[in-house]
Amino acid sequence: MTATRVLVLNSGSSSVKYQLLDMSDSSRLAAGLVERIGEETSRLKHTPLTGGGEAREREQPIADHEEALKAVADELARDGLGIDSPELAAIGHRVVHGGKFFTEPTVIDDAVLKEVERLIPVAPLHNPANLTGIRTAMALRPDLPQVAVFDTAFHTTMPESAARYAIDIKTADEHRIRRYGFHGTSHAYVSRRTAQLLGKEPEDVNVIVLHLGNGASASAVRGGICVDTSMGLTPLEGLVMGTRSGDVDPAVIFHLMRVGNMTADEIDVLLNKKSGLIGLCGDNDMREIRRRVDEGEQEARLAFDIYIHRLKKYIGAYYAVLGRVDAIVFTAGVGENSAPVREAAVAGLEELGLAVDGELNSVRSDEARIVSPEYARVAVAVVPTDEELEIAQQTYALVAPPENRNA
Ligand code: ADP
Repeated sequence: MTATRVLVLNSGSSSVKYQLLDMSDSSRLAAGLVERIGEETSRLKHTPLTGGGEAREREQPIADHEEALKAVADELARDGLGIDSPELAAIGHRVVHGGKFFTEPTVIDDAVLKEVERLIPVAPLHNPANLTGIRTAMALRPDLPQVAVFDTAFHTTMPESAARYAIDIKTADEHRIRRYGFHGTSHAYVSRRTAQLLGKEPEDVNVIVLHLGNGASASAVRGGICVDTSMGLTPLEGLVMGTRSGDVDPAVIFHLMRVGNMTADEIDVLLNKKSGLIGLCGDNDMREIRRRVDEGEQEARLAFDIYIHRLKKYIGAYYAVLGRVDAIVFTAGVGENSAPVREAAVAGLEELGLAVDGELNSVRSDEARIVSPEYARVAVAVVPTDEELEIAQQTYALVAPPENRNA
């Protein structure tokens, strides 16, 4: 029997998201989430996606990632999809920070674990959790290939002119300060899917990808290769996000230290957790913000306007970086669902060949689609992202027997 299943694990500091896919037809067999690991109120939600079973929820204390993964393994086994099955080909792990070193998905061994660990200073929130997930999964199935798929990998093609900050080069190199970019799995998947939607090969199209979720980032993709992205050393740079400020003058930080008597840690929390939309208007959910805007609330209006202004600046910047743009594509929670955001982001950019068709833009759908009018020079597209499928495909491509790699 050929093993064609891939388990995708996304381990956060207090959560594990998972999906089990069958790569013979890219179908999803099960999906779920363990939340609040380490608390009394931990919860596991498991949804079988084959065989017609009902979603199941368990609320019980789950002390750590090991217990979480064991609980996931139990749930999968109840559906006959146990992780000890010979049909499981590999486990694919989302790893947030791969630095400069990891340009591709990589089968995990001790050297890989060491390098991911070495990157903890530049990804203190994410890499430790990712490592815990990997080590736990390796202990459960030591015989199985485990693959790391890095959020940063797609951006490692950025030229030095885009990847470097203009700061003292020796200091930057000593501390590995450069622009790494994140959400790469999504930018890779969505840019490729957009080419397909246009009926073209990825090599033949230039695309601006706007990944607008709670975290948000833009990228400029020339012929399938990333040439710039808005997140930097950490996911803080760039667009206005749910709780992150995005770009600020770095002097804001010393000002807050000197004049506001704040510590580095306090400013870190301020800019990452208490800024962006939530800092501006108290809400980070775009649905709620739009509702407030429609009711004429000024605070929400200002937050929305700042969000859109920044988005437009990046569209303009990446238009200039690319020179020629074939499509602008919106993805993730806000990008896929918020017609007002898409409309406002391209409003007034007709001279750049950009427009949305009001009717097409307001259609709600889970399908990849074009929402610009036929006459527009640049396609405006909406493409639902699918990071799990991308991780599963990249994982399977690395471990499957050659005759099955294009399954
Ligand atoms: P994450 O970055 O957490 O993966 P998602 O891509 O799931 O985020 O996006 C979550 C965000 O998407 C929510 O905070 C909300 O602002 C937005 N969102 C979800 N559904 C809608 C909707 N129907 N309309 C507008 N915004 C939405």
